[in-house]
Amino acid sequence: MFFKKKNLLQIAIDGTAGSGKSTISKEIAKHYKIGYLSTGAIFRCFALAIQKESKFDYLDPKLTKKIIKKTHLKFIDGQFYLNGKDVSKEICQESIGQIASVISQQLFVRKRYEKITRKIIRNKSFVIEGRDIGTVILPKVKYKFYLDASFHVRAKRRVLQLKKWNLPFNVSQQSIARNLKIRDNSDKHRKLAALAVAKDAVVINTDNKKINETVSLIIDKISN
Ligand code: C5P
Repeated sequence: MFFKKKNLLQIAIDGTAGSGKSTISKEIAKHYKIGYLSTGAIFRCFALAIQKESKFDYLDPKLTKKIIKKTHLKFIDGQFYLNGKDVSKEICQESIGQIASVISQQLFVRKRYEKITRKIIRNKSFVIEGRDIGTVILPKVKYKFYLDASFHVRAKRRVLQLKKWNLPFNVSQQSIARNLKIRDNSDKHRKLAALAVAKDAVVINTDNKKINETVSLIIDKISN
């Protein structure tokens, strides 16, 4: 029923890296039988394309623009395809997250991301997860949430995730926590679409909450 335009259900979930946004957003989407979009994945796809072409020059906006312009990105059944290849798992690597955070500050990258996101979610019910959903992409959306947790808890979760996905990482939990700090800092203080709590968002600290507790909390807020 939510797929009729006037009954659209769009839920914005923003927050810091590793705060549980992806896991929780997927569960909410499953509950309402609607789509799920990780907008971070779009930046990560760009980052992967750049990493494949140029190992060190992602700070150069001219170069990133050139690479992204010729990059084909497709979102099919919840998976991301970069130039025809499903990269949904590859983009979850720590190193890709770091590059994504740097290039997400560049104007061309943000414009391209916005265009892709708007096209995917237009007239569709979705849980959309990212950094600027409630503030820039969907400022008028009714349901907005902001998730956060301590660095220690986020780093611990990230390690478990990387192990579960069998993704390579040769750094300690402490160094992952340090990376999260760097990423949060640049996400919160960049000039364009900085990570911020929308004034009408419900803020949830997930430190001492199980996944199902946060999911229930969000569903309760939506139904009341
Ligand atoms: O959420 P995820 O860790 O996949 O995001 C990777 C990076 O992409 C973030 O650190 C952030 O810099 C950027 N991002 C963004 N805006 C979004 C989603 C992600 O700038 N809406």
